[in-house]
Amino acid sequence: MSVADVAVVGAGPAGTAAAIELARAGRDVVLLDKATFPRDKICGDGLTAGALRILESLGLDPATVASWQPVDDVVVVSPSGREVVFPLPRGDGRYAVVARRAELDAALVDLARSAGVRVREGQAVVGAAERPDRVVLDVEGSGELHARYAIGADGMWSPLRKHLGVATEGYRGEWHAFRQYFLDVGPRASSQLFVWFEPDLLPGYAWSFPLPGGGANVGFGIQREGGKVARVQDMKALWPDLLARPHIRAVLGPDARPESPHRAWPIPARVDDIRLTSRRTLFVGDAAAATDPMTGEGIGQALLTGRLAAQAIGAGGLDAAAVTSTYERLVRDALFADHQMSMLLIRALTHRKGARAAVRVAGASAWTRRNFARWLFEDYPRAILATPRRWHRGMLSGPGAYQDGDLRRPA
Ligand SMILES: Cc1cc2nc3c(=O)[nH]c(=O)nc-3n(C[C@H](O)[C@H](O)[C@H](O)COP(=O)(O)OP(=O)(O)OC[C@H]3O[C@@H](n4cnc5c(N)ncnc54)[C@H](O)[C@@H]3O)c2cc1C
Repeated sequence: MSVADVAVVGAGPAGTAAAIELARAGRDVVLLDKATFPRDKICGDGLTAGALRILESLGLDPATVASWQPVDDVVVVSPSGREVVFPLPRGDGRYAVVARRAELDAALVDLARSAGVRVREGQAVVGAAERPDRVVLDVEGSGELHARYAIGADGMWSPLRKHLGVATEGYRGEWHAFRQYFLDVGPRASSQLFVWFEPDLLPGYAWSFPLPGGGANVGFGIQREGGKVARVQDMKALWPDLLARPHIRAVLGPDARPESPHRAWPIPARVDDIRLTSRRTLFVGDAAAATDPMTGEGIGQALLTGRLAAQAIGAGGLDAAAVTSTYERLVRDALFADHQMSMLLIRALTHRKGARAAVRVAGASAWTRRNFARWLFEDYPRAILATPRRWHRGMLSGPGAYQDGDLRRPA
């Protein structure tokens, strides 16, 4: 049997952010993952301004992530084929970066280790129980781990939720998305970030995100309910069809070739309608269904909820009820309004006309193009205009992340 103050299950962005903050606050933290790092995570690899700011404040050095690719231009293509280039601000820090998850997550695990977290890789949690004063985790191959609190950062399927009996029966996520890495893509795909609102995917979209050395992360996501692609099974047939569409083919270029097979994974997006806590356990990231329901971005939300869990444990101390209620309040204040704003916007994107109008309005002037790009990449909260409590001076014009670093590979 081993003991810790806090046991964090899952070493993705959510778990590492929580573990790093707790260790820096003087807690004895064990971070467990069933995988050994580097491990792949099916993802678009896109980092928003919100994610970058948290990574910077955690102390992540971009030089430790070989595929770190800054992005300056976002190209959005409407269902009618109209292409609008949205420039992100230049020379004032980073607002968007693409980084392979295998490398980003391994760098975060290393950062956790250097912060004093006891990292245990290749160890799956296979059972759990909550007692009045502790959580007992059953760890495959190494017996019981007793901790005052547990943090469930174990992703979309959260085995910890199931072990504690707080999973939603039959829940399979709001979105489902495909991803495939490509090599030798053309000059546009290797430098610009593309989003295609294809009429048959709405409100979903296809993407191509640039990676260093002529690579790209290419994929598409669909909504499970209410979207145009009725069945996830149909996605497999759609994939070669999408890649063959002339406007997508033209961006990827004639020499583009797959680096590895395509893979699919669900995206959970119902943070305002899921249990965020059990008696001594806080769920974070995908285990809290915290992704943005409009874009499917979840790395920033994973980092943020991880950080909020650490904050709640710091504030509540030995009082488990105070810890769980603090965490629920912090998540509500930080994410619910933005979640609801995205839910509203997605209704417009469901229809061809709505998606076309959105791209037209966003691209109407240099000002709208600049600000839309910053808004889309979570430079400020989605619902900032509707939540005056979050207003502060310079909220729409602050600098990006990593102002002093990261310029070794200009986009
Ligand atoms: C195709 C696709 C594209 C996406 N694109 C983007 C994007 O471009 N930008 C963006 O911001 N978000 C994107 N997302 C969402 C993003 O990938 C997730 O929101 C994010 O990875 C959540 O991080 P996490 O730390 O909560 O969970 P994860 O990254 O899933 O980490 C969970 C960890 O838990 C571990 N684990 C699971 N079970 C156990 C167990 N029993 N014991 C121990 N460990 C366990 C796993 O091994 C894993 O390491 C995308 C998602 C998909 C599916």
